[in-house]
This record gives sequence, C-alpha cells and structure tokens, in this order.
Amino acid sequence: MSATPMVKQYHEMKRKCGDAILFFQVGDFYETFEEDAKLVSRELGIVLTFKDKEKTLPMAGVPIHGAGPHITRLVNRGYKVAICDQVEKPSPQKKLVKREIVRIITPGTVFDTDLLDAKANNYLAALVRGNVGYGLSLVDLSTGTFQTTHLTEKSAFDNLITEFSRYPIRECLLPRSLSDDQDFMESLRKEIPHDIFFTPLEDYLFDPDYAEQTLLDHFGLTRGGLDGFGCGNLPLAISAAGSIISYLQETQKAPLTNIRSLRTHSISKYAILDLSTIQNLEILENIRDKSGQGTLLSVLDHTLTRMGSRLLKQWITHPLREPEKIQSRLDAVDELFSTIILRKDLTEVLENIYDLERIISRLSYLRASPKDLILLKTSLQKVPELIDLLKDVGSPYLKTISKDLLMESEDIVSLIKEAIVDDPPTTLTEGGIIKDGFDQQLDELRVITKTGKNWLVDLEKTERKRTGIKNLRVGFNRAFGYYIEVTKSNLSKAPKDYIRRQTLVNAERFITPALKEWEEKILTAEEKINDLEYAIFIRIRDEICNYTESIQQAAHSIAKLDVICSFAEIAVQSRYTKPQIDDTDTIEIKKGRHPVVEQLINEDFIPNDSLLDRSGHQISIVTGPNMAGKSTFTRQIALIVLMAQMGSFIPADTARIGIVDRIFSRIGAVDDITRRQSTFMVEMTETANILNNATPQSLIILDEIGRGTSTFDGMAIAWAVVEYIHNNIGARTMLATHYRELVQLSDLLPRIKNYNVSVLEMGGKMIFIRRVVPGPSDRSYGVQVAKLAGLPPEVIERASKVLEKIESQSHIQIPILSETALPPTRAVISPVETEISNDKPILDVSKAELPPTRVSTTFDELRASNQFESAQKIEEARKKKKQTTLVEFDSEDD
Ligand code: ADP
Repeated sequence: MSATPMVKQYHEMKRKCGDAILFFQVGDFYETFEEDAKLVSRELGIVLTFKDKEKTLPMAGVPIHGAGPHITRLVNRGYKVAICDQVEKPSPQKKLVKREIVRIITPGTVFDTDLLDAKANNYLAALVRGNVGYGLSLVDLSTGTFQTTHLTEKSAFDNLITEFSRYPIRECLLPRSLSDDQDFMESLRKEIPHDIFFTPLEDYLFDPDYAEQTLLDHFGLTRGGLDGFGCGNLPLAISAAGSIISYLQETQKAPLTNIRSLRTHSISKYAILDLSTIQNLEILENIRDKSGQGTLLSVLDHTLTRMGSRLLKQWITHPLREPEKIQSRLDAVDELFSTIILRKDLTEVLENIYDLERIISRLSYLRASPKDLILLKTSLQKVPELIDLLKDVGSPYLKTISKDLLMESEDIVSLIKEAIVDDPPTTLTEGGIIKDGFDQQLDELRVITKTGKNWLVDLEKTERKRTGIKNLRVGFNRAFGYYIEVTKSNLSKAPKDYIRRQTLVNAERFITPALKEWEEKILTAEEKINDLEYAIFIRIRDEICNYTESIQQAAHSIAKLDVICSFAEIAVQSRYTKPQIDDTDTIEIKKGRHPVVEQLINEDFIPNDSLLDRSGHQISIVTGPNMAGKSTFTRQIALIVLMAQMGSFIPADTARIGIVDRIFSRIGAVDDITRRQSTFMVEMTETANILNNATPQSLIILDEIGRGTSTFDGMAIAWAVVEYIHNNIGARTMLATHYRELVQLSDLLPRIKNYNVSVLEMGGKMIFIRRVVPGPSDRSYGVQVAKLAGLPPEVIERASKVLEKIESQSHIQIPILSETALPPTRAVISPVETEISNDKPILDVSKAELPPTRVSTTFDELRASNQFESAQKIEEARKKKKQTTLVEFDSEDD
C-alpha cells in the first residue's frame, strides 16, 4: 500500500526508537505495526489485524487506558517499549497530528507504582571494564538514588558479582565492545544470581571524558566538580555513572530532576556477604520456596514506611565494618529501646508517611497524579511533628536525623493546601483539581460554566411551561452538544423556533440559537478550565520540584528513623540486647539464639554460648546427631554477627562482637541423587571460593562440608579444609559436621575446639536437649533418628544389629598429620607429596602464630592437580610413614 502521511510518520518514529517496540497513539489506542505488531500479538495474545485492505500492514493495538499491564508484561520479558503520543489536539484542519516519543520504558527504568514492588528498589546498572578492574554504577529511577563505585582490588570480579547479588538489578548497560566479549559475558551470566537484561550502548558514552562532561552538565557543575561526589579521580566509576545519565536522557525525555546527587560507594566500608551466604543464611528469601517467609528480613522488618523497608533491605545486605558507625546506630536503637513513649509517638507519626521518594520521582517525571500531591502534603505535614518529637534526643545519630529533617515542609504543605482540592481525581486532564479561590481566571471561567449550567436547568423548566410538553428534556452528547429532546407523540407541540438536529426512533432532538450560544460559552469555558487547571498543576509541580533535594533528604532521614525504630521495636518484642562491638578478634556470645528459628518453633528455644577468637578458639567443630541443632547453632552465630554489624540489637544475653570483614558460608548439599555429582561440584566450588578469599578477619560457617560425596572422601576433604583454615587463613570458623572423626583435630591443632549438641537417651528413645557443650559427641545416633522418623521397628532392629557388626569390624587406623609433622611452608614438588614427606608443618603451629596474610594455596593446588582424592593419598602416604597418632574411623555413611 502507498505510505500515508501517518505511516511515514510512524516509520520516522520507529527509526528514532532503536530496538524498542513502538506504541504509537492513534486516538484512544496505542497501535503497533509491522514486525512490532506480530511480536505484540504473539507475546500478549492480541488479535493481529491489518490497517489496509490489501493486508500489507499488520497492526495490533491496545486501548490507552488499559495499556499499563500490557507494557509491564513486555518489559518483564526484557523488551523495551517506546511510547509515542499525540502531542497536539487533532482537528479537522490538520491532516496529520503531531506525535513525539515521550518515553522509552525499559526493564531498569520502569517506575510506575503499579508496575513495581514498593518495598524493593528497582535498579538500572552500568558496568565498564578497565585494565585494573570495573566501574559499576546504579540508579533507582523511582527514588532518585544514584551511586557509583570502582572495584580494583585483586578479587574485583568476585566483588563485582557480590555487588550484583546485593542489589535487585533489572537491567545493566555496558559498552558494546564489552558485550561482544563472549567469554566475559558467559562468566558474568553464570555467576549472576538473577535474570538481568543487558543493554549494549555505543562505547563513546562510556569514554571517561565524555561521561564526565555528561555528569557535569547534568549536575550543573564545572570541571573538577565531581570531586565533591568523591569520584573525581575514579575514571571507571565516572564512565559507568555518565553512561547511566546518557541512557536516562535518551529514554526518559525528561530533565531527570530527581537525580540530584551521586554517591561514591566504597565496598570496603561494608562487610561482604556473597550470594551463597545470602541464600544459605536465608537472609532475604528462604531456601524452601524462595519466598520472604522465615527469613532474617521478615523477622527484622517492623518498618512502617516503604522507604524504611527499602533501606532495611540495604542495611541487611551491607553490614558495616567501622566500629564507630555501628556504635552510633546501636546507640540510637538503644535510646528508642529505652524511651517507650517516644518510640510509640514516633511510630504513630511514621505510620502516616507515604512513599516520599517515589512521589517526588513521579513528580519529576510528570507521572504524578493530583492524588500524589495530597499524599505529599499529608506526609510533609508530619515532618515538623517528627522534629518536635526528636528535639530532646541524646544520640548523635538521631540528632543528625532530626537536623536533616529540617526543610521548607510548611511552604510546600501550604501551597498544596491552598491549591489542590482535598480529594482530587487521579487524572490530570479532566479538571476538578484546583481549589476555588486559588486562581482568578479559573474562578471566572467556573462562574461561566456554573451560570450556563443553571441556565440549562432553567431552560428545561421554561420550555416545558412554554410548550406544554411535560417530558421535554435538555440533554448533552459529544457529537451534537446540548439539545432539547421531544418525544414523537409530542412533536406537534414543538415550537417553530426549534431547529431539528437529530432524529431518534422515539424522539427528535432540537436546538435553539440561545441554546447554541450558551453551549459555546460552556464548552469553551470547560475546555479552558481543563487546560488552565493542567497548567496550574504543572506550575505547582515545578514549584515543588525546586524542593526535590530537601524532600529527598527528609525522605532518607525518615527511612533511617524508621529502621532504627524497627530495630528498637523488635529488640523489645523479642528480648534482644545491645552487643558490644570492637575490632578485636573475639566473638563471644552468651545465651545466643537463632532469630528466625526461635520465632518459628512452638517450644522454647534453648540458648547457647559460643566463643571464637584467633588465639585458642579459632575453629569450633560442632558434632552431634542429626536434628540435634548443629546447623541452627552455627548459623545463629553468623546471623548474630550480621545483625550486630548492621546496628541491630541481637538475640543473646550478652555479646562481644569483634568485627568481621566477610561472612562465608558453605551449607551441606541437600541430598539429591540425580544431581549428586554436580551438587558436589557446586559444594567444592563454593569451598574453593572460601579458601581463596577468606582473610584472618573473616567468619566462616561450614555446615556438613563434604557431604555430597562418599564418607571417606567427604571426611578427608573436611579434614584437609579445616587444617588449611587453621594453618593458612586464620579465619574464625564454625564447623558443624556429623564426621565424628574430625574431633581428633582438636588434639592436633592448637586453635580448634570441640563442641557437641548433647542428647539424652532414655529407654531407647532419644531426647534432644539442644545444649551445646564442650567436647566431642560420642556416637552418631543415626539409627535413633531413623526411629524417630517412624521407620518400621523391624528395620530399626535390623539396622542396630548391622551397625553393631560394622562398628566392631571396621576400625580403620590412619596416621594423622600431627602438629609436629606439618611441613614448614608450601610444597615444592607436589603439595600432596610434600605435605606427606616433609616433617615440618606448613606453618609451625607449635608456635601457634597465625599468618599475617594468606600464604600459598595448597588446597588450590590440590584442586588443580585434580585431586580431592588427594586427601586419600594423604591417608595412604601417612600410613606408610607410620606416624604415631592414630584415628579410628568407622564406616558410617550419612
Ligand atoms: P542438625 O543440623 O543438627 O541436623 P538443626 O540445626 O537442623 O539440626 O535443628 C533441627 C531442629 O531442631 C530445628 O529445625 C529446630 O526446630 C530445632 N532446634 C534446633 N536448635 C534448637 C534450639 N537451640 N532450641 C530449640 N529448638 C532447636
């Protein structure tokens, strides 16, 4: 078909919107054409039609009013949607109405409330790679949060992955040349926990000079101005951040007024939780069904505002490392913990505060409805109340919050109060938004419509009287305007001055010159009113946008206050106490509890003590039967440390927490026969990650390591891993295991202590008492657990007999790498052989000194030389050497 002007215009727009699907407004519909139409029809199940008779122009459309969910579905599947609106009113004189692309919606830039989880952020990221590391910038358009960082340390790639796991990133921009590097993209995709849509952009957008200029222009700064954000000398961080601004300018077609500052984020300020630790410790979602139930977040989240809830999520994945910062949060919690009335009053105020961050963002992008202004007013009205409540606080942290709340809230509140009606409509274009008395011109126009409408009401009365037609009616429709309707039976009574307009089945519709005159007046006034109300709304919006920065600052302070209140509230409800924080190496917890398990079980939770340090108690080996409580105990230590470092009180009677730089966890493979091999690989990869990255300041939680393979392999690996952590890393470690053989390690290495979760046996039954006591457990109790689980008595009886037999026969004796038998440093030939043949320790543990930093990676080399069975080789060789220390193995399998 020959291209009509509209089709030509469509093609022009299509060229402008890159790879986005073009939603092209035609009247009340968004239409898509050609390939887009086919795609939309396929993805959304919408009927494909044709615009032309020849059926050459496929078309699929959705009504504008119901377009939201359709757009969401497309964006969630990784598509981009360009919205092309009619930007002028169609009129008979104009052949072609003007259209413009007003916005391109992409997975990382959605922020309409109905498309988003209000309790979570929705990040757009930009990634660049340099010679020495990476630049990573993040923005949440719905809140205006904008940050950037550079990762240049040795483990930059791992840290990059950690950052990807900490933030819910939906879309990631990267230079086209980087996205063409398939090896890199593959490793990135493999490591990144969730689906991210990668959007390649032209390389020049990432050029540090170009990016810097983009940022300077956006923030209205002169050269050197980025120093104020702390990233002036970080070209990778600048590249990433600049590309984000370029992309947002391109897609949002708006001045991005809610992005008022850039925070340079340094990952060294935070203790690192990698993805598997976040998952294993069930911090944000549980392992069972990936929901938020039964997680640390669910226990801690008593926040009352969306902003607080989002901030808590950040705090929980970004525990602090600086003792003073942690202390100041803890002191703030302490103050609200002890002042019940203040906490209660604050709670009541916070409850009535809406999502200021998102409201101000919607305002900035002209996506706010008049209702948003009312929510803004209600929320800002509360700010002076908060300031007043906080006036006598002692905690410096709360004082700063109170100071940062100071803003011109009253100006904004009174502006909205004067201008906007109390219950405005959700739409912007139909009037009814602005209060009477706010604008003189508007008032005058309203008088005209009111007078006109009164005249119409009177007209009905007077015409009925004049004509004697009782059911004469004055009405209105869009096509014909105002009319006088007379039923057919009364037609004869219609006066001569009535002019016929429309014939219906049962009636005729007329107009009169006077009616037309008033119609003109009313309609023009109404149209003018709508336009004027819209214009006034925009004026008010612009006025309020001038306060964006202080509203954002207040919002952030409210979020902090909310989280601190939430910590105080949960501390009171669940009897948490304030931990003592320092940068020593001691973690000492008295009567500690697992914050989540204690909420989930019906019986009382049994508290337990724990002690870790780097002198005598570096590694705790916790043994005990299945179900005794080993995992719960070891994990509770990690959770308590994490809670303390985010500034929360903790479930314990007292605790001293020597700050950790990283929490690692390796949780035993869930038995899965079909995946056993690969599960074991996963387990070993995670273990390798721990051994390669842990530092003396780290905390390691190992739960049933080596379980995914045969007993002997598993035991041998666990053994070698513990030795390595002890001798080469020095990290504080909790190890829960059912390999009772490992308890021998405490006799051989000075910083290992044994604990067991005791059980009582009474009348052949086992009673779990959940007490962690020093010393190894003496038996494995597997058969008793099986009995508890309801296995038939015959099976239990037979199993007991078999066990007896096996135990009496299978005492395997192996020599052990004793303290004096350790080699001095790393091996020269094969690490395995050296460890065996050399009489000296890797580190002279007899001096009980820890390595200042990690030394050579014998475990790595074991892996490289293809051997976990190496551990078995160690056993064999040790046997040959006939060392004096013997360990008894039995052949119990898990
Ligand atoms: P294990 O790791 O030894 O197999 P778990 O730590 O998984 O055992 O504990 C099994 C169950 O015992 C938990 O799900 C919990 O219900 C209960 N439990 C564990 N520790 C305690 C405790 N200290 N007090 C009360 N119940 C506990």
